[in-house]
Amino acid sequence: QEEINHYRNVNNISVVGRHIPNPARVFSDLNIDKDIQENLIKCGYSEPTPIQKQGVPVMLEGRQLLACAPTGSGKTAAFLVPIIQHLNGPQKQGFRALILCPTRELASQTQRECVKLSEGRGFKIHIISKIKKALTQYGSKSNKKYDILITTPNRLCFLLNQEPPAIDLSSIQWLVIDEADKLFEDGSRSFRDQLQQILKACDNSDRKIAMFSATHTPVVAKWCVHNMVGLVRVTVGHKNA
Ligand code: ADP
Ligand code: ADP
Ligand code: MG
Repeated sequence: QEEINHYRNVNNISVVGRHIPNPARVFSDLNIDKDIQENLIKCGYSEPTPIQKQGVPVMLEGRQLLACAPTGSGKTAAFLVPIIQHLNGPQKQGFRALILCPTRELASQTQRECVKLSEGRGFKIHIISKIKKALTQYGSKSNKKYDILITTPNRLCFLLNQEPPAIDLSSIQWLVIDEADKLFEDGSRSFRDQLQQILKACDNSDRKIAMFSATHTPVVAKWCVHNMVGLVRVTVGHKNA
C-alpha cells in the first residue's frame, strides 16, 4: 500500500473514495483485451498517462468517477478504453454508451479516437450531425443497430423533447460527461436541466456516470457527490489548478 501511494505521488495522482483499485503502470497491467492494447499502441501510445493509469481501473470496476486532469493529458482514452472493454462488441440493443461534449467539434474528435481505439470490434459509433435524419433514425421502431452516441446536449435534448421521444436511451450503461467544467459553466442552469432530462431517459438500473474535467470546479464536484453513488474522485496535478 505504501508503494502504491508512492507511485500515485510521483505521478501526481490523488484519489478520494473507498476501495480504490491500484493504478496501472503499463497498458498490460490493465484488465483489457489484447486487441484494445494493440489499438492503443497503434495510436502511438506507449504508456498510459496518469489519468489513464488511475481512471481506467476505476471505470473497469464499474465505479462512478469524477476525473480532473489537465488539458492534453489523455482524458478521452481514459473513458473510451473501459467503455470499449465493457460493451465488448456490437449489439442491436440501441445505444449503450453516451458521451456528452460541449461542442460538435469535440464530439467529432472523440468519435475519431473511439473508432481508432475500437478498431476491429465493429461498433456503430454515431454523432448527431443532421438533426432531420436523426429524427427518424433512433426511435423505438428503429433497428437499434448502434452502440455508442457522442453528442452535444442540445441536439440530444431536441430529440428527447419530441412527442413521442425520437431517441431511446433506456439501454445506456455508461454516461460520460466530458469537459464538465465547460458544460456546467457560468452558473447557467440550462445544462443542469438538460442533464436531469437526459438522466431520466437513461433509466437502466445499472447506469453509471463518469465525469471528466480539466479543472477542479466546486459546482461539478457538488453535483457528483449528490448524484453518484460510490463516487471515486481522481485528480491529476494540483488540486486547485
Ligand atoms: P484531454 O482530453 O485530457 O485534453 P486528449 O484525450 O485530447 O486530452 O489527448 C491529448 C493528446 O494526447 C491527443 O493527441 C492524444 O492522442 C494523446 N494521447 C492520449 N493518451 C496518450 C498516451 N497514453 N500516450 C501518448 N499520447 C496520448
Ligand atoms: P449544438 O451545436 O450544441 O448541437 P446548435 O446550436 O446547433 O446546438 O442547436 C441545435 C439545436 O437546434 C437542436 O438541439 C434543436 O433544438 C434545434 N434544431 C431544430 N431543428 C433543427 C434543424 N433542422 N437543424 C439543426 N438544429 C435544429
Ligand atoms: Mg478532452
